[in-house]
Amino acid sequence: MDQQKLLETNLAGPCGFYCGTCSHYLARAKGLLKEKNLKHGCKGCRIQDKKCAWVKRDCTLLRKKQIEFCFECADFPCANLVKLDQRHVRDDNMSLINNLLRIKKVGAAQWLKEQEDQWRCPECGGNICVIDKKCYDCGYKIR
Ligand code: SF4
Ligand code: SF4
Ligand SMILES: [Zn+2]
Repeated sequence: MDQQKLLETNLAGPCGFYCGTCSHYLARAKGLLKEKNLKHGCKGCRIQDKKCAWVKRDCTLLRKKQIEFCFECADFPCANLVKLDQRHVRDDNMSLINNLLRIKKVGAAQWLKEQEDQWRCPECGGNICVIDKKCYDCGYKIR
């Protein structure tokens, strides 16, 4: 992936997670590392090259960057991805597999715009964290 594309798709994880709603990303972006008890936080999937998602840790294709998104894989959705997906559906009402199918359909740039809208705080226009279930700007709770 060239540098420009890497920057453009930084917040679109290969597993279908939107990094813009991650606590590690938001804590860093909003200067809340100390408050959240985090050392460094995260700059986003592609820039940080983090192996945060279990699927990446256990997947050679992803680790060696042979594909950009899991939907390109012959095994999609593999057992590991299904497991991670089920966890996010249960805990966060968010499906990585559905996200990946949407990225495949409309492209990463359009999907990222949709995600920005989806995770925008209805109270202040700030950023909702799906992990903490609240806005990192005003504290508005989504559950
Ligand atoms: S920790 Fe993982 S999900 Fe969070 S911003 Fe970094 S790469 Fe994305
Ligand atoms: S779907 Fe394919 S690329 Fe994605 S984690 Fe599973 S094996 Fe790896
Ligand atoms: Zn808010």
